[in-house]
Amino acid sequence: MKSYLPESQSLPSFSKIETDAILPALEQCLEDNRTLLKTLLSNTETPNWDNFVRPLEVAENNLTRLWSPIGHLKAVKNNDELREAYNAGLPKLSEYYTELGQNADFFQAMQSIQDSKSASLNSAQQKSLDDSLKSFTRSGINLSEDKQQRFKAISQQLSQLSSKFSDNVLDATSDWTLLLNEEEALKGLSENALAAAAQSASQRDLEGWLITLEFPSFNAVMTYADDRELREKVYRAYTTRASAEAVNKDFNNDSLMVETLQLRQEMAELLGFAHYADYSVDVKMAESPAQIIGFLEELAEKSLPHAQKEFAELKTFAAEQLGLSDLQAWDTSYASDKLKQQLFDFSNEDLKPYFPVDHVLKGLFQIVESLYGIQIKAQDDVDSWHNDASFYEIFNSQGELIAQFYLDLYARQHKRGGAWMGSYCTRFDTGSALQTPVAYMTCNASSPTGDKPALFTHDEVITLFHEFGHGLHHMLTQVEYLSISGISGVEWDAVELPSQFMENFCWQRETIDLFAAHYETNEKIPEALFSKIKAAQHFQSGMAMVRQLEFSLFDLKIHMDKTIDSPQQIQAILDQTREQVAVIPAPDFNRFQNGFSHIFAGGYAAGYYSYKWAEVLSADAFSRFEEEGLFSEKAGTDFLEQVLQQGGSRPAMESFVAFRGREPEVDALLRHNGLTGEAA
Ligand code: ZN
Repeated sequence: MKSYLPESQSLPSFSKIETDAILPALEQCLEDNRTLLKTLLSNTETPNWDNFVRPLEVAENNLTRLWSPIGHLKAVKNNDELREAYNAGLPKLSEYYTELGQNADFFQAMQSIQDSKSASLNSAQQKSLDDSLKSFTRSGINLSEDKQQRFKAISQQLSQLSSKFSDNVLDATSDWTLLLNEEEALKGLSENALAAAAQSASQRDLEGWLITLEFPSFNAVMTYADDRELREKVYRAYTTRASAEAVNKDFNNDSLMVETLQLRQEMAELLGFAHYADYSVDVKMAESPAQIIGFLEELAEKSLPHAQKEFAELKTFAAEQLGLSDLQAWDTSYASDKLKQQLFDFSNEDLKPYFPVDHVLKGLFQIVESLYGIQIKAQDDVDSWHNDASFYEIFNSQGELIAQFYLDLYARQHKRGGAWMGSYCTRFDTGSALQTPVAYMTCNASSPTGDKPALFTHDEVITLFHEFGHGLHHMLTQVEYLSISGISGVEWDAVELPSQFMENFCWQRETIDLFAAHYETNEKIPEALFSKIKAAQHFQSGMAMVRQLEFSLFDLKIHMDKTIDSPQQIQAILDQTREQVAVIPAPDFNRFQNGFSHIFAGGYAAGYYSYKWAEVLSADAFSRFEEEGLFSEKAGTDFLEQVLQQGGSRPAMESFVAFRGREPEVDALLRHNGLTGEAA
């Protein structure tokens, strides 16, 4: 059991993790941490950073290093035993954290460190203490004992509900497959997509072509399959996952959503907030839900006319050219791709040969290496959870190792969908050693088929750049205090700044040439094709914008409504939001919300707007590079030093202003989306 615990500077031994050992190891670590806190609190010396805060950070660091690999495995290599061990650990963790947050002596000790005039804390340490004191309030330190008990129970239930929600989505996703025996049934799909479907079938010892609900498979059918009934069938399966509308109703998230929203509301009210949205926004860069709604509605006002015009064009095109006079939700991607081909004379598939995985990675690394003066090297022989996962090390300009990361690129069974960056550990001065950060970077791109290398779509390239931006934020930090190092302590609605910033490099000739080369001929993207890509960059960007606004507004509204007691009410709020901002009519059976893991199982509750909020920051930050040159040394160094390295050591607005020389402006975002002019 002991051997499972990673050594202080070592990486997790993923292949040696025994599920039986997880819970005992967790219990042991929690007990050690509790004992340490007791000892520190009984110390007669006046508490200060070195004798109190740092030892507790070391304890917290031990716990994170023990638990983070378990959470990561559950996401990328899920199985029943692991799931059981993980879910059994959750209430223990939740109990532990609530107990810490409600420990009056602990609170007093932290308060006294902050108050002490002799403390000579630097500004980063003060920010860390401010954050901690705030989190005591948010954990119910000022509540009466019975209310504290209730708060504790709610926290535990919420963490279990969130885990169950994501398990249901994962199970519902793997539960549904469609085996086709005739290649003809998949007419319209590219060779790559057909090969992937054949591979999925053969991996399960089946003959023919297997359609799954993993995103690359779903997306290929929705965009390219000529068979309308097939598209409808797959769309229905995908958008009813984990709902009562699904064929298999075992994974229904209906009651989980209602319960989650009610408990969140109760928790917010216990703490004196009007509703959960107020509680959520209290620790964000935005000032209030009302300010955010104003922001989203302003974007809606500017983009809705564009979106309506784009959708009208699509309908006309589909009726006239494709014979689809009643354009449905399962036709829109398909018809959009055909329209795009007609308008710009290229399809997303035409680009794939230019994005073989090795080249994309090499170019991505080259871009960040020259921007930030770092070096990235592959490192083999590192224990991981799957052959797909590779490992890299980052060195600074003096050749010192500053960070490491795992990269797991491809979609597969038992792996959660989507893309994300997770942390194994963060930069931290333990007092005896400097721990360097380790990140997990996870995508769900199409895997290689046959002898071909994995070929990415442009969207998959953008996703990789996005996650890498999060990774750099986590890994290039220079802050050495645990709670504010890397992305820790950064306001949630500013977290997408470095990630969305990176996406911009996927649209510039100068940088695209560094990572795009034909996998057979090594040729760069021909100028004619590149012009088409640029011309098509804003294709349906109004529709894309209002879709994000729909999710953001829906998320805020359900977290401001204190009366929700049925899934029908959640549906009604979604319907109203769609009436306000959506242009594509959603069919009655669509249960998008039942798979909305961001807000029910991720950290985005009453925070989905963060994507748009941070996009204002990222677009505006990138506009400095447009002004001064994409590889401007000055701009690169400033971004590194004022944003990436700062982590949560100061408010995000301060970092932004230090980099940009002024507060953010929304113009660059609208310009980058082609939404500045009239929608004539
Ligand atoms: Zn992100």
